[in-house]
Amino acid sequence: MPTFEEQRAIVVGGSIGGLTTALLLRDQGFRVDLFERTPTLLDGRGAGIVLQPDTVRWLTERRADVSVEAVSTGSSALRYIGADNEVVHEEPAGWRFTSWTTLYRFLLQDFGTERYHLGEFAVGIDQDADGVDVRFVSGRTERADLVVFADGISSTGRRRLLPDVQPVYSGYVGWRGTVPETEVSAETHALLDDALSYSVGPLSHICMYPIPGLGGELERGRRLLNYVWYRNVPVGPELDEMLTDKRGFPAPVSVHPGQVQDRYVAELKETALAALAPAAAELVNRTAEPYIQPVLDIEVDRMAFGRVALVGDAAFAARPHAAAGTAKAAADGWALAEALLAHRGNVPGALRSWEPGQLELGRALLDRVREMGTRSQQRGTWEPQDPALHFGLYGPDK
Ligand SMILES: Cc1cc2nc3c(=O)[nH]c(=O)nc-3n(C[C@H](O)[C@H](O)[C@H](O)COP(=O)(O)OP(=O)(O)OC[C@H]3O[C@@H](n4cnc5c(N)ncnc54)[C@H](O)[C@@H]3O)c2cc1C
Repeated sequence: MPTFEEQRAIVVGGSIGGLTTALLLRDQGFRVDLFERTPTLLDGRGAGIVLQPDTVRWLTERRADVSVEAVSTGSSALRYIGADNEVVHEEPAGWRFTSWTTLYRFLLQDFGTERYHLGEFAVGIDQDADGVDVRFVSGRTERADLVVFADGISSTGRRRLLPDVQPVYSGYVGWRGTVPETEVSAETHALLDDALSYSVGPLSHICMYPIPGLGGELERGRRLLNYVWYRNVPVGPELDEMLTDKRGFPAPVSVHPGQVQDRYVAELKETALAALAPAAAELVNRTAEPYIQPVLDIEVDRMAFGRVALVGDAAFAARPHAAAGTAKAAADGWALAEALLAHRGNVPGALRSWEPGQLELGRALLDRVREMGTRSQQRGTWEPQDPALHFGLYGPDK
């Protein structure tokens, strides 16, 4: 049986899950190549990420020179804001927040760009007892001993391996946006600064927190205020129309900043004034380019297929209410690396032993966030003081 040093791994997808997994496999001695479909280095995905221990485990365990504080902003409170900007609930909460871009920069710096292949869209796979062939639309075919698909919610790997699994629309979309903190009023800033803040409307809620500036700036005055506002949109023509971008292209997974039809942005801003606390409404109204992500559930019953693994959103995509998507993607990668170490040289054996724990993790997270989403968007029982609604990959505050 070959040792790791003689084995090659391919990771498909160069976001947080893919980069974390690629770094860990390389640390074990695999020759790792990562293939990312976008033609340029991923940037400008300025959206916020709530840091959970797994999200930053690479930095905390492998980068002694970078502290979590150096890549994130923080909060000291969980705050619910009422219809007149009054604080209806507040409790201590020391969450850390970063932006996708800030985290990506650090991981990419460690992996380097030599084996981070841009503009390579994986389109097909075949495997035999000794290895896996991955075909790319560029015409390239690569063979490896281990292939990890970290290619997100519309994963090609999942579609090839589990063609019957389809994303299930939750019944609501997430409107997302960021605003430079200097662009909001002093009253709004005072409410949203140093806190994870919520405003709850009828069958809806918005979650807001400060994140680093576009260049990773952490100082007060240079950060962004980030939000996700969950709004019900019935499945059918209304949703289909909304998820059609300005150019007329269908955008079933995300209508990007600048691509949302103007009339939907106008409606969003107007409704915010009526439905949200004034601070939250101001944030929404000051957003230059709000964008839409439909909230989808994806559930699989397999993540390991011989020498091929699905990690992160490629396997389970969970509604964002636990703020645990990137943490789960990273956790899948860490567990995979640990299983490979335990089965030194035996890739299929390692994948078999890795799969049950990660299926359990994905299912438990999905159950929890479905319940959270139902309470907010269908039952209207989202209670500010309920600790069950706290973030966490392994459970509230865990
Ligand atoms: C509204 C909303 C809010 C969210 N908020 C949070 C939050 O606060 N905290 C949090 O942790 N998570 C949050 N998430 C979830 C988070 O975005 C995902 O869980 C996380 O990005 C998954 O990481 P990933 O690496 O598995 O996939 P992705 O980040 O989706 O990356 C997949 C990568 O694969 C590439 N790719 C796709 N197909 C191919 C192919 N065929 N060939 C080559 N490359 C390919 C893509 O270009 C992309 O770079 C939120 C999600 C939504 C919808």
